[in-house]
Amino acid sequence: MSEFEGLVAAVTGGASGIGKATADLLAERGAQVVALDLKPGDDGIRCDVSSDSEVRAAIDAVVERFGRLDILVNNAGIGAQGDVTANDDDEWHRVFDVNVVGMVRLARAALPHLKNSPAAAIVNTCSIAAWAGLPNRALYSASKGAVLSLTLAMATDHLPDGIRVNCVCPGTADTPWVGRLLDSAADPAAERAALAARQPMGRLVTAEEVANAVVYLASPLSASTTGTALAVDGGMYGLRPRGP
Ligand code: NAD
Repeated sequence: MSEFEGLVAAVTGGASGIGKATADLLAERGAQVVALDLKPGDDGIRCDVSSDSEVRAAIDAVVERFGRLDILVNNAGIGAQGDVTANDDDEWHRVFDVNVVGMVRLARAALPHLKNSPAAAIVNTCSIAAWAGLPNRALYSASKGAVLSLTLAMATDHLPDGIRVNCVCPGTADTPWVGRLLDSAADPAAERAALAARQPMGRLVTAEEVANAVVYLASPLSASTTGTALAVDGGMYGLRPRGP
């Protein structure tokens, strides 16, 4: 399939995990793809999404290289553990600066170019945490809640510009991020089993499965879809226990 032939995509956090799987799949489907990352690979561009000047320079570099920008995948994100007492103000600002304002910076820089595209789409990587308020993840959950409402607001605002805006909500996905979390657990195998058991399908989702959803929302196959959050979570949210 080459439904992205002639289109250009920028993927933040595109050097690892979900972002890398997404960048690879978009390229396989015919797009020209640039990973924007703190540690970019060979063809990527170094970009810290918490720096407005780096974001603007990176988007300028993409457009200079390829002449256009059609798809923005806002995927870079960082985690934080604990309840509301666990993180001080600086940590709250830092996580929101990357996870939420980072997406705003990218959108601000990309919108003038996306407005010129006949197939413009933004896909934000949200999380099941936005809906579920994950235990011991107050700051992270709040930041992803903001990503969800940002997605809805942007979808509304930019409909007249012909730009669709959607997000994916992964459950626990088997990425280097989760690998690092497991490595730091007292019993990594038991922790992995506990995370898998939390999802009704009894396993972690793969980065490729999340990428499939991102690529669908970025593609003309979802031309009638905007302002949507698509869960890729092994049934965690849809099949959640419901009270009386
Ligand atoms: P990952 O750590 O494997 O990859 C994240 C990438 O983002 C890395 O390449 C890293 O260098 C880059 N990055 C981090 N901070 C950055 C910054 N300031 N500027 C630019 N790049 C930056 O993580 P992942 O698991 O693939 O997560 C990707 C996204 O998916 C995140 O937004 C995360 O919140 C979300 N998510 C992950 C899971 C999961 O279980 N893995 C679940 C739900 C949502």
